[in-house]
Amino acid sequence: MAEKRRRRSPAAAAREREAEEKKKRTGGRHCPVCLELLPRLGGQAALRCAFCGAHAAPDRRCGKCHGDRVWEADSAAACAACGHHGSKVRVFAGQDWLTGKPPQ
Ligand SMILES: [Zn+2]
Ligand SMILES: [Zn+2]
Repeated sequence: MAEKRRRRSPAAAAREREAEEKKKRTGGRHCPVCLELLPRLGGQAALRCAFCGAHAAPDRRCGKCHGDRVWEADSAAACAACGHHGSKVRVFAGQDWLTGKPPQ
């Protein structure tokens, strides 16, 4: 029997994984930073991740979609609205949080 394996380029596989991760990040049931399933409290997903310690940071803004559904952990951050993720500097880029200036 021939091995049943679909040939996919690494780039296509990476794109697929990205799409899969984005679905989790923006679905509201997983931590947008580490993608672990969030505990549910009273029918609502918790706004803090027990795995990586990330939590919702409504006073921050996403550098990509400018929404406020961003989460932050120690050094990483992610946006639960558009799926933007990475280091805090990257996710909150375009904001003056680094210099301590209030958002315009
Ligand atoms: Zn997490
Ligand atoms: Zn965003």
